Amino acid sequence: MPAIFLAHGAPPLLDDELWMRELAEWSRSLPRPRSILMISAHWEEQPATCSNPAGAPLVYDFSGFDEKYYQVQYPAPGAAALSARVQTLLRCESSTRGLDHGAWVPLIPMYPAADIPVLQLSLPTLEPGPLFELGRALAPLRDEGVLIVGSGFLTHNLRTLDRSPRPVTPGWARDFDAWTAEALLELEFDALLDYRARAPGVALALPTHEHFVPLFATLGASAEGELPAFPIEGWYLGSLTKRSVQFG
Ligand code: ZN
Repeated sequence: MPAIFLAHGAPPLLDDELWMRELAEWSRSLPRPRSILMISAHWEEQPATCSNPAGAPLVYDFSGFDEKYYQVQYPAPGAAALSARVQTLLRCESSTRGLDHGAWVPLIPMYPAADIPVLQLSLPTLEPGPLFELGRALAPLRDEGVLIVGSGFLTHNLRTLDRSPRPVTPGWARDFDAWTAEALLELEFDALLDYRARAPGVALALPTHEHFVPLFATLGASAEGELPAFPIEGWYLGSLTKRSVQFG
């Protein structure tokens, strides 16, 4: 299976026809996963912790959105087998938590039948190196039919969103996105791991880091020399890059 990083969007993504279609087309181009392991920006917990392996109600971890988004359901089957397997690969607590919106929003267009077991794994840290190692530990799952998904945003500054009919993408967002894309294509993992010091525009692109760092779990799960592709590109509300990454 490939290892991917996707830009996930808030619940209104569910009403964005273009982006929904892009996610649906991407999933149709992938082999069908036996199960899915999600690492979302919206769950930081140390040590690494798995969601409820039996399945659990969704977490509506957002505020200020239309009431209809609090009614969304995604009754994916439990992922007990994957949870047990993950615990053989790394030290991982279990919990009763359900999937958060960083997991279920993209799953709805990608796997609308909700018939594939999904497990979520917390971000135990925001540090790139340990998250890369986490991805390394999870990499064998790719040969077992598991789709490893890092879910966040490569740029994420909610103070700069442009909700006008023709949003403008600021230069710092373009610079940061282009730098990240080039570093990925050149497999410059050392530069990526040091992005906080090296990437242009990083202070504006990422006032906080939780949306970018799931990328490192995906990078860690990539194979030596495996080149990435960008199945989705473009911009959302001006400064949010939709760039999504696929290894394998
Ligand atoms: Zn988010």
